[in-house]
Amino acid sequence: MKKITIAIDGFSSTGKSTLAKALAKSLGYIYIDTGAMYRAVTLFAMRKGLISAKNFDQARLVELLDTFDLHFEYNVAKGYADIYLNQENVEELIRTLEVSQFVSQIAAVSEVRKKLVEQQQILGKSKGVVMDGRDIGTVVFPDAELKIFMTASPEIRAQRRFKELQAKDSKVVYEDVLHNVIERDQIDTSRQDSPLVKADDAVEVDNSNLSREEQFDLILQLVKERI
Ligand code: C5P
Repeated sequence: MKKITIAIDGFSSTGKSTLAKALAKSLGYIYIDTGAMYRAVTLFAMRKGLISAKNFDQARLVELLDTFDLHFEYNVAKGYADIYLNQENVEELIRTLEVSQFVSQIAAVSEVRKKLVEQQQILGKSKGVVMDGRDIGTVVFPDAELKIFMTASPEIRAQRRFKELQAKDSKVVYEDVLHNVIERDQIDTSRQDSPLVKADDAVEVDNSNLSREEQFDLILQLVKERI
């Protein structure tokens, strides 16, 4: 069967990765979580003391971009790939609220985007890929056969993210999560390089009131039409 490229973009915590994983599994495609790549760069910058609530040494981060490597390794138990920063599996470490608080600043740096976009284009060049992020349908794969743009209200998204974070850390506060969701939307949509926008030919899906199954069925139908 013909293989296509599926680009899933949208606001944070709209369930892009859940949908992307389910599609990849059902189609036998590879799934690439590009947000994980920006999060891993953020973890690198935090560890090097380059970003904190008070400062961001962007110039030093750019100088150090060639000193680390990111790659994915398939995790058989989970059924999708984990991200590695150099040789370390950082899949869990990048999912904290602290990383979320800095990631949009890191993702606004053009040199960071250039490095990651090149890698994403290589990873997806053979098609048969579901990639989620903010600029997949606009910049990484502007010719993707199917582009989805996902939205939901900030409160619903924060509630979903809060539940995920709370399962790992009972001290997480809902208001902090809501604030982070709104702040990331703001930075992601207003940055100069590759801002989060719906591609003209993307199908917009507001999943505020859709179940996972309803959403999956809707999009699988679109995939079949494109194939
Ligand atoms: O998808 P996730 O919420 O993990 O992404 C984390 C952050 O990485 C986003 O808020 C955004 O700032 C950045 N990002 C991006 N471009 C992508 C994927 C993620 O700028 N393709």
